[in-house]
Amino acid sequence: MGKEQQNSSNKNIVFLQYVYNAMIHHCMEQKPFEACGLLSGTNNVACTHWPMTNVLRSPNEFQMDNNQIEFIFKRMKEKGEQLVGIYHSHPTTVPYPSPNDIIHANYPEAVYVIVSLSSHIKPEVACFHIQRGLVTTMKYSLQ
Ligand SMILES: [Zn+2]
Repeated sequence: MGKEQQNSSNKNIVFLQYVYNAMIHHCMEQKPFEACGLLSGTNNVACTHWPMTNVLRSPNEFQMDNNQIEFIFKRMKEKGEQLVGIYHSHPTTVPYPSPNDIIHANYPEAVYVIVSLSSHIKPEVACFHIQRGLVTTMKYSLQ
């Protein structure tokens, strides 16, 4: 048997426009540090933006606080939503997962969203699945 290239969870992500805007705003606001956050919704549509604290306050890595994650997961459940995406920013580098990002990707069913602020023209957003060390680029759309 070959490697599974695709599975049914590999659906493209859809951002509601205001969620997309809020995510980018949060990333710009946290510059020069990496920003991070969660996106929740249903059926791979990101309806809610949850800005999180980067406890490392670093320009090239991020880590979320476990208590904050637990708290936000409870609130998602109350809203009847599931985790759809996990985002963070790359203040000075391209929108592609770093070796560290790949090692720490613990949610194979979530879409990893990277907002690169390295271009002075406009932020670049890219989406990935990271499953057992394998990075797959995902398409996304705005709604
Ligand atoms: Zn990264």
